[in-house]
Amino acid sequence: MKYKIIDSHCDSITRIEDNNLSFDDNNITHINLNKLLKSNVKIQFMAVYIDYNIPFPECYFKALKYINKLYEYEKNSSNIRIIKDKSDLNYVMNNENVVGIIISIEGAHIIDDNIEIIKSLNILGVKSLTLTWNYKNKVACGTMENIDFGLTDFGKDVIATMNNLNMIIDVSHSSYKTFYDVLQLTKQPIIASHSLSNYINEHKRNLTDAQIKEISKLDGIIGINFYEEFVGKNKDINSLVDHIDRIVHIGGSNCVGFGSDFDGCKVIDPLKDCTYLYLIIDELLKRNYNNDLIEKIYYKNYLNLLSKFY
Ligand SMILES: [Zn+2]
Repeated sequence: MKYKIIDSHCDSITRIEDNNLSFDDNNITHINLNKLLKSNVKIQFMAVYIDYNIPFPECYFKALKYINKLYEYEKNSSNIRIIKDKSDLNYVMNNENVVGIIISIEGAHIIDDNIEIIKSLNILGVKSLTLTWNYKNKVACGTMENIDFGLTDFGKDVIATMNNLNMIIDVSHSSYKTFYDVLQLTKQPIIASHSLSNYINEHKRNLTDAQIKEISKLDGIIGINFYEEFVGKNKDINSLVDHIDRIVHIGGSNCVGFGSDFDGCKVIDPLKDCTYLYLIIDELLKRNYNNDLIEKIYYKNYLNLLSKFY
């Protein structure tokens, strides 16, 4: 059986454009249109990440360039639909050979301290914002900083604005205090678009059991990341499924999805690109995951979340 797939994080747009590759097809990137169609990926979050060292406003202008590229892809192909509203979401889910793209921004450094930019990006179809990359910005503190100040006052405005605009708050890369500050304020589910379990593999970018519980309580989702450094010593599917097991055990079966991090890192070897995602099914079956549960992980949990945001 070929499951539909929703994946909440990849860095393919910047990798493809920076290397002058074709989005339609190429044999270098983990993700391109041909591979997405082949794998039955129905919705792919495309993260726009701009190098943290590029100052504002250049980083913002650069982000616009990649967003414009995504719209060019859509214009040139009947197989691509950027999901801007519920009708797009339904269209994508009900039509074979159509891949939906959700535009996300990775790192609020590109907005500096301008709430108007968030509102404009939302009008441009940006649906999700990862509050920080690894370091601090004017919204919040990232996970690799030594001093953890959490959300700034401006960051608190950002959370309220995102809630009002129905934008998805993404806490991957956030520091602990940022994470808990967001929990205090948000009125909507949050996601950790590409993170794993800190219990299975201790790493600053992975989530503690307590964090997993909180995300689950809010009806949010953790997107399973395939980066070998986050997965752990054995860089295999077995270890990856250990993370899934732990997250299901702690947060329940509704809070797990995929957040591959394709084209942004060295993924575990068996998952050579998005056409290999089916390999995870065998290991899930071996551990007595039934069809319903596998479907939830592959796409239904995310579809359920998205139906609340569109
Ligand atoms: Zn990332």
